[in-house]
Amino acid sequence: SAKRHGRNVSQRFRPALDVQNSPHMALVYGLRDALANGDQLELHYQTQHRIMDGAVVGMEALLRWRHPEHGIVSPADFIPLAERHGLMGPLGNWVIDEALAQMSRWRDLGLPQLPVWINISAIQMFQGELETALSAGLARHGIEPAQLGLELTESVLLDERAGDIVPRLEALRAKGHRIAIDDFGMGYSSLSYLKNLPLDKLKLDRAFIRSLPDDPADAAIVSAVLAMARGLGLDVVAEGVETHGQLEFLRQAGCRLVQGYLYARPGPADVIEAQWRALTSDAAGLVLRAEPSV
Ligand code: C2E
Ligand code: MG
Ligand code: MG
Ligand code: MG
Repeated sequence: SAKRHGRNVSQRFRPALDVQNSPHMALVYGLRDALANGDQLELHYQTQHRIMDGAVVGMEALLRWRHPEHGIVSPADFIPLAERHGLMGPLGNWVIDEALAQMSRWRDLGLPQLPVWINISAIQMFQGELETALSAGLARHGIEPAQLGLELTESVLLDERAGDIVPRLEALRAKGHRIAIDDFGMGYSSLSYLKNLPLDKLKLDRAFIRSLPDDPADAAIVSAVLAMARGLGLDVVAEGVETHGQLEFLRQAGCRLVQGYLYARPGPADVIEAQWRALTSDAAGLVLRAEPSV
């Protein structure tokens, strides 16, 4: 029963079956081992592009778990497990350190310095380790906070366990980090909190992009979000752009930035690095310049 587990433990995370022997517990133990050894975890990177000229303006780091038997396990499957079973703190810290380590390797190779955005879980916000892990990692790898963006979902921003999020976001921004709302539009009270939270960017969820340009409701929502963001001085990145039709709609609606398979799929650091080298040695290498204002 929920009572047995204490008042702060949500019932829905505690199925009434023998969890110790369930298949998902096997994954949890596997993930714990992966964290201890480190060699099954990887970050992949997906570039973000300016529509106007295709320039790469940054990239998102996406966690991958290469399971010895199951192959690549999707973060959509193992991150909720990690959150439920006390592994998200260490996992989040691993992501921070690995992203910064990779950024310092790219810098040492002389590759263009592009901002990298990492995803932050609610647990990292309310356990209060985030700021410490960020400062330690930035110092260890010699990276400027302005180069490391933080993506938070609406549910993270509204999680009461995180306390008053406004001063914390303000402090992170004062250090130089930029803050994005991820999956924008999929949560609740989207509009009221936009007034109060210190933010730089909205990432428009791909649920709204998928049926563009034909779906009139999605077209209206996307146009309205773009107009609103312009008024609020926020950048918008459209997520999950897969077709030229979607891209053309977004361009005409005034969207500047996109991320999606149409431009690039997420890939391991060495693949991304090879793409950079190919492009920078090309006469058209200009597409790789980082845009200072984004
Ligand atoms: P997200 O942060 O919204 O990341 C974007 C997801 O969309 C990624 O899925 C990416 O591979 C996928 N994507 C990008 N372009 C396209 C496209 O054109 N079409 C389609 N269909 N998908 C596209 P992925 O890598 O499976 O990650 C899923 C989610 O897992 C992420 O959603 C994020 O919420 C979470 N996640 C991933 N890495 C981390 C991490 O390091 N920490 C935390 N806390 N969460 C993470
Ligand atoms: Mg994200
Ligand atoms: Mg997203
Ligand atoms: Mg998502």
